[in-house]
Order: sequence, then structure tokens, then C-alpha cells
Amino acid sequence: MIKVENLSKSFRTEEVETIALDNVTFNVEDGEFVAIMGPSGCGKSTLLNILGLLDNPTSGQYWLDGQEVSLLKEKDRTGIRKGQIGFVFQSFNLIDELNVEENIELPLTYLKVGKAERKQKVQEVMKRMGITHRAKHFPHQLSGGQQQRVAIARAVVFGPKLILADEPTGNLDSKNGAEVMRLLTELNQDGTAIVMVTHNEHDAQIAHRTIHLFDGKIVG
Ligand code: ATP
Ligand code: MG
Repeated sequence: MIKVENLSKSFRTEEVETIALDNVTFNVEDGEFVAIMGPSGCGKSTLLNILGLLDNPTSGQYWLDGQEVSLLKEKDRTGIRKGQIGFVFQSFNLIDELNVEENIELPLTYLKVGKAERKQKVQEVMKRMGITHRAKHFPHQLSGGQQQRVAIARAVVFGPKLILADEPTGNLDSKNGAEVMRLLTELNQDGTAIVMVTHNEHDAQIAHRTIHLFDGKIVG
């Protein structure tokens, strides 16, 4: 699914250069569930953003499903991102002005799925995430756990092969966190590969494998 080799990323701000990722090499197999752990500032989100084609590495190579995406043009990378990768963030990142249904429908609209099929897919995924009774609510009318379930619904409604989650339980209490982990586990059991950044040892144990980062390097 994912193969990265000698991936590095540095940020230059005025005179300071920060090496956020330093020669990172690893694979993620199809259908695998991988956790990424490490202290604050070690490069976890930077790595996830590169894997999600939201950012470019400074050097190194990245193959997604055998295609070297590090060489693609911006437009093609956006197409791959929106067609194949679902994102879940700590802060939910829902659109405040859109209700639950409309938020979930967005990726399908981007992919030019027809209206009848969009409605059907949104209904299916809302049912699966247990949020059908909140279809017409806006994000500010939902609890954190509900918002994250809407975010997961939006991330999976188009059937991505890969889900990238950056501390998906970070803003949730333990009960809602456990529910989010249950949903992610279920999606993984249905064949979706997941790469999840977490600070939570218990959540990491649900993954098949953990990559430990320290100062931009893989240390285990
Ligand atoms: P946390 O657990 O706190 O979320 P993290 O492991 O996700 O931390 P990153 O956000 O990947 O850490 O940041 C890695 C390093 O790169 C940090 O030193 C950070 O300050 C730096 N960095 C990240 N993004 C930028 C940016 N856009 N410009 C400059 N420096 C950045
Ligand atoms: Mg981070």
C-alpha cells in the first residue's frame, strides 16, 4: 500500500532550519493497521501529511499502490488524495455551515457521484456510524464523539483504501475514544489500511504494529 524510502522533510523559517523528518524508511501492507507514536514535535503529523499528499517531502521517495507519488504534479496528487485517502483529525475539521449529511456528502460531490447514489451512500454510512438521528444537525449541535463519527463517515463514504488518522481520540473522553477505535477497527477488518498517530498506548495496542519516532527518525 505504502512504501517510503529515505523520506526527509525540513522547514526553513528565517534563519532556523527544522529537520522534521530525517531519512524515514518503512512500508505499510494492504489492509494493515499501523500506529505512529513519539513525543510532541518528533514529526508524526509531518509524516502523516506527506503520506496524505497534503505536503511534499524535501527528499526521498513515496510509492502509493506502486505509483511514485512524490514525482506527481499537484493536480494529480490532489486527485489521488481525494479519490483514495480518507482523513480523520483530532479537531474533527467539519464544515460549520454544513449539516451532518452535507458534510458527509462532500467527497462524493467532488468525485462527481450522481445525486441518487450520493444520498444512498450517505444514508448507509450514517447508519453504520450511528448518527442517522443527527442528519440535519450542524457540527456545533453535536457532542465531540458525534462530531468525530461524522468525520469518520465523511472519511470513508467514498470507500478509500487508506485512512490516515492524526490523534483521532485526542479530544475525546475514554468512552467516545473507545467507540472511535471500535469503528476504525471495524473499517480495518473490512480491508481498509489505517495509519494512525496516537499518544495513547491503549489505542496503539489495537493496531497491528507501532512505528516509534524520535527527533524525526524511526527508533523502533
Ligand atoms: P505533536 O505530538 O505535538 O502533534 P508532531 O510529532 O506531530 O507533534 P510535527 O507537527 O510533525 O510534530 O512537527 C515536527 C517538527 O516540525 C516540529 O519541530 C515543528 O515545529 C516543525 N514544523 C512542523 N510544521 C512546520 C511548518 N509548517 N513550519 C515550520 N516548522 C514546522
Ligand atoms: Mg501532531
